[in-house]
Amino acid sequence: MIVLSAEFIKSAADAKGWPPAGPPEFAFCGRSNVGKSSALNALAGRKQLARVSRTPGRTRLLNFFDLRVAEKTRSGARGPEQEVRFADLPGYGFAAGPREERDVWKKMIEEYLTRRESLRALVALVDGDLGAQPSDVEMVRWAESLEKRVLCAATKLDKIARSGRRQQLDKIAGQLAVPKGYEFSAKEHFGVEELWHALMSA
Ligand code: GDP
Repeated sequence: MIVLSAEFIKSAADAKGWPPAGPPEFAFCGRSNVGKSSALNALAGRKQLARVSRTPGRTRLLNFFDLRVAEKTRSGARGPEQEVRFADLPGYGFAAGPREERDVWKKMIEEYLTRRESLRALVALVDGDLGAQPSDVEMVRWAESLEKRVLCAATKLDKIARSGRRQQLDKIAGQLAVPKGYEFSAKEHFGVEELWHALMSA
């Protein structure tokens, strides 16, 4: 994928703050520290795109990014320009916090998942080294129960020996009960094109 431009649009707590539905949108979720910022930066080909998602005051909000992209054709030429939007959902860390924070988080995500018409797929990031945790399973089941398309990607897979990656990926897909998991490493930059392809096919 050729990323022509990528920019932060805004942060929002609820539907009133979302940018008007426009380009196909992909939401990214995962436990805190799963490598979500790194994955967004790797997909966007920008070192610091997702930095804004971690500035004080924005970590508990939905953060929206607009990208203009073009697929590379087989001959290496640039395909037609397309717009996509990324929504960076707050990490589940808060979901483990005090009851009220959990409720606020849950309400915010539920409103987004049920009411965002332009949402094409939820990308559930799972720590590929750690494997799927109960909160990951819960998130995937929840999104599926709302009839959302879910793509599961295993981050930090560079931490697993090359020979064990396939097995680890299958194990994670099994834990999440999804047909396929996508391997990903922001550090070694693998899986980036495959995940882009999955997004654009969703
Ligand atoms: P976030 O909290 O989910 O946004 O996670 P970050 O992107 O900030 O990453 C959390 C930690 O994991 C940081 O220390 C990163 O350097 C590390 N990390 C992120 N992606 C990778 C990766 O692909 N491979 C490895 N080995 N470490 C990673």
